[in-house]
Order: sequence, then C-alpha cells, then structure tokens
Amino acid sequence: MQVINKMKTITILSGKGGVGKSSITASLAITLAKRRRIICADCDVDASNLALVFGIKEKDFEEYLPISTIQKAVFDLSKCNSCRKCFEECYFDAIELVNDKPKLKEFSCEGCGVCQLVCPVDAIKLVDEKNAKIGYAKTKYGFRIFSAQLDVGASGSGKIVSAVKKKAEALAQDAEIMLVDSSAGVGCPVIASVSGSDYALLVTEPTPSGFSDMKRAIKIVNHFNIPYGIVVNKHDINEEYTKRIEEFAEKNNAQILSKIPYDKAFVKALVNLVPVVVFDKKYEKLFEEIGSKILLRL
Ligand code: SF4
Ligand code: SF4
Repeated sequence: MQVINKMKTITILSGKGGVGKSSITASLAITLAKRRRIICADCDVDASNLALVFGIKEKDFEEYLPISTIQKAVFDLSKCNSCRKCFEECYFDAIELVNDKPKLKEFSCEGCGVCQLVCPVDAIKLVDEKNAKIGYAKTKYGFRIFSAQLDVGASGSGKIVSAVKKKAEALAQDAEIMLVDSSAGVGCPVIASVSGSDYALLVTEPTPSGFSDMKRAIKIVNHFNIPYGIVVNKHDINEEYTKRIEEFAEKNNAQILSKIPYDKAFVKALVNLVPVVVFDKKYEKLFEEIGSKILLRL
C-alpha cells in the first residue's frame, strides 16, 4: 500500500448549490476510508449538513463549542461627547444615533475598527463576539468529521472555515487525507476552503446555471493553481449540456472523473441519513473509480 506522508487536502466545490456535492463528498469519504486514513471537514458553515448525511446529529458530537472569529464595537456612553464621528465614518452603516448618542444596529457591525480610530475620547472598544459553534464527531464509518455552524445573522464565515480546517489538522495528525466540503457560491468561505488544497473536485449538473457556476468556481481553483477533476451529476437530465461540460473539460485539460445518472436513490439515501454508496451498493464501484483517479493525482 502506497504511503502518503503529508496530509493531502481534497476540496469538493460546485459553485451552484443543490447539485449533490455533500452526497458525493460523503460517499467518496466512505470509499477512500477503506484505503487511507481520512478526516472530513464540513466547511459549508452557513448551512452545514455533511454530518447529517452520515447520520450524525448535534447530540452525537464529541465536542461542540461556541467560538469567536469576529469583533464588534461597544460604546462607553459616559465618555461620549456626541461628536457623531463614529456615525459618519462607519462604512457599514452599523451605527444609529439615539438622543445624539451612538447605538449599534443589530447584525450590522463588521468589526472593522474605524469608529474606534476616529473617536476623539476613546469611548469605543472592540470586543470578541461568539459567532459560531465548532466541533467534531466520530462517524460509524471509522473516521472523524469536523464541522461548524455560523450563528443566525452572524458574519465571519471565511474565518470560521479556516478555524474548522485548523482544528481538523491539529486533532487528526495521523490522517493522510482531509476531504473538505465547501459551501456553494464563489465567496469568502469558498476561497477559504480551496486555499491550500492539493486537489479540487468540481461537482456540477448539466444545466445552464450549473455549468456557469462551475466555471466561476474553477476560476478560484485556477487562481491557486490546484489540479482538479469534474463529476457531472444527473448527466442524463440534459445530454446537450453534459456534452458542453465535456467539451469544456477537454479544452481546459480537465478530467471528467465520472458521470452519474439521475437517481432517486440519492434523495432516499438522504432521507435515511446514509450516504448513497451505503444505501445502494451499486454505487461502490463508481465511487471507487472516482477515488482511484483522485489518488493518482495526489
Ligand atoms: S467596528 Fe466598523 S462596522 Fe462596527 S460600528 Fe465600528 S466602524 Fe462600524
Ligand atoms: S466618536 Fe466617540 S465621542 Fe463621537 S459620537 Fe462616537 S462614541 Fe461618541
């Protein structure tokens, strides 16, 4: 068995949401875990659900604690002379004036610190604010999953992603592979997920938005110069767009790792809280092939 010395990171992303990214991540994890020591990091911190795909609920976590990756402004009104400077300079419009005194609007402060800088009487300080819960659980498939959930209305998702990856790296030092399930979109949390990866798996579906969003996600991957492959999920719902994706892959020297047909088994597996490769054994070979192709690139 080939030994991989440094832990390698495979990030799964899609651009578009709802294409089956977490289902595919979970099944790939189970397949790779038969051949390597792995861990999973659910970095979709706005809507983390990878643990649920493995059948893990919050009560099953070994640890699940509040953390803070952001700060917010706090005003000492006894010092405030009502100069309005903080109100005028806050770029995020996070301050309102009540009886000429500043008051923070809920969910608006980005912790940038400008108000603190402009206050002439040192009446503002920045304090840490809890904005997420982070923890880990053991799956019944023999590996751990690290996960975080952003609080409702909270900001700082990119930093939370970095915190999940750091915690996973620190607590799973003997792992050979970390699978990172990124969020949809191409924003800060996706960039934080992809950064530092050794390989990217793009999951897409053959629809105009699926194809377009995949190409936007690939721009991030290319920015970091990371090798990638593509899985076309539900390829038979639109053969014309599947062909377009294949042509795009050929033109850009990208590997199509697999084409998966539309199958209600994916939904039934989710309903039953098991990955599809466990729900329907016919998928074992397909995910083994995807895993083998990726291992060859690490
Ligand atoms: S820290 Fe920044 S965002 Fe928050 S109130 Fe001050 S200026 Fe506005
Ligand atoms: S800048 Fe300072 S003194 Fe001026 S309104 Fe804001 S808190 Fe008060």
